[in-house]
Amino acid sequence: MASSREVVREAGRRRTFAVISHPDAGKSTLTEALALHARVIGQAGAVHGKGERRGVVSDWMSMERDRGISITSAALQFAYRDVVVNLLDTPGHADFSEDTYRVLTAVDCAVMLLDAAKGLEPQTLKLFEVCRQRKIPVITLINKWDRPGHDALALLDEIERRIDLQPTPLNWPVGIAGHFHGLVDRETGDMIRFERAPGGAGLALEELLDPEEAGRRYGAEWTTAVEELELLSLSGADYDEESFRAARSTPVLFGAAVSNIGVRQLLDVLVDLAPAPTARPADDGTERELDSDFSGFVFKIQANMDPSHRDQVAFVRVCSGRFTRGMIVSHGTTGRPFTTKYAQQIFGRERDTLDEAFPGDVIGLVNATALGIGDTLHTGPKVRFAALPSFPPEHFAVVRAADSSTFKRFRRGIEQLDAEGVVQVLRSELRGEQAPVLAAVGTMQFDVAVHRLSTEFGVKTMMDRLPFELAVRTTLEGRDVLQGEAGVEVLRRTRDGALLALFPNQYRLRSVSARHPGVPLLPLSGDE
Ligand code: GDP
Repeated sequence: MASSREVVREAGRRRTFAVISHPDAGKSTLTEALALHARVIGQAGAVHGKGERRGVVSDWMSMERDRGISITSAALQFAYRDVVVNLLDTPGHADFSEDTYRVLTAVDCAVMLLDAAKGLEPQTLKLFEVCRQRKIPVITLINKWDRPGHDALALLDEIERRIDLQPTPLNWPVGIAGHFHGLVDRETGDMIRFERAPGGAGLALEELLDPEEAGRRYGAEWTTAVEELELLSLSGADYDEESFRAARSTPVLFGAAVSNIGVRQLLDVLVDLAPAPTARPADDGTERELDSDFSGFVFKIQANMDPSHRDQVAFVRVCSGRFTRGMIVSHGTTGRPFTTKYAQQIFGRERDTLDEAFPGDVIGLVNATALGIGDTLHTGPKVRFAALPSFPPEHFAVVRAADSSTFKRFRRGIEQLDAEGVVQVLRSELRGEQAPVLAAVGTMQFDVAVHRLSTEFGVKTMMDRLPFELAVRTTLEGRDVLQGEAGVEVLRRTRDGALLALFPNQYRLRSVSARHPGVPLLPLSGDE
């Protein structure tokens, strides 16, 4: 048995985070760069036997690139200084989906990665919204500072104005985007001058210059940086732990992931400022303390990760206690015992047997077909964590079995996909049992559903996209009124019984809402 002191100590050295970014902002590049830093300077306290993970990250990316619909990713774990970093992947390329959002229910912190030339982009905003609702602290990294982009102050202004988050830069660029010499460390006032490593493959070379030397070398550019910093201090843009932890302010860093510039600084901020796991609230209002018995919840389920194995992996975020492989745990939903002999640490194609894990870590349970998304696993006193939120769907399609003789399998398949959270399933009396409506955050979820119904359940399906773009929550009385409105449909979401009214667009929603002010039409947030 782990002593409770050991569990608390281990949890205290975990930093579990995800990167939120729009495609092409540099997430894969940053992941590579973080892993490179960890490899080169963080090996001292390697966590798992296999310290050498060279190639794993690029492997993962090539899988993402030529992916079918069956590939996943999970958590990259590495040691840095005296900390264990868990970087959870948020698949965010062409296949933006509910999974992307759900990963954010399993992290303690997020890194918002912005392209200096583009600022805030749609997917960043969507993901950030989930962070706000869940009060996840956000560290911002403004990337691609090595090439022309917006003005640094303008980027800060955009963050403050558009997402109401107070930016508090920790370092500041000397030289504009595209003509960049280094960063001022706001705490010490010194400048870190960067030079790309020859060939670009290694860590960037860093040289520390005191303010005098920096001034001598960079004249007007140094003066500008210093003046801008004074301006920032006057406007109250100084790091503040309380508002960062409460997701009201965001520490900001500048860098260029492709040249490994500013990446070490990000790692240091993760170690020094990012929160470690804390006690997680259970759905009865109590909290599961870190050092109580083992508990965790399933935040992601992935079937057919490896086509040659046809397996299904449930990813569990550990919330309390110490996990040891082979441990018998209870499944919160059914109360049944569950064996964890096949616990693994999974990253891309790489799988290591995982022998132990602590709060903040991610375990992959292979062939855990009894588990559903959001399910709790525990030993000792029973606990159930709040159900994972459903996120507002934006795509809708009705699906039927092409051959009615396969209906039973079709129904079973739909139930399974619903339990796994592959898609949201909506039903109405009008459409009947044969024709459920699938709702998704990204259309990739439909492809996965159709593919799995065919390969796992042997059901060919017919799917028709429906002309809706948004869903709001309504009531039974609301349904009766809305049913008379053209182009509006009300269905019940099976996962939580919520009544959802589907609208073709915002305009239609606004006009219906204006006509029926008494009808509740409540926005779906990720936090219901
Ligand atoms: P992802 O879609 O967010 O994973 O983005 P990638 O990591 O694939 O990067 C998208 C493109 O931006 C690639 O061509 C990268 O080489 C490039 N890129 C990433 N980081 C930087 C950077 O710091 N500077 C420059 N100039 N390009 C970058």
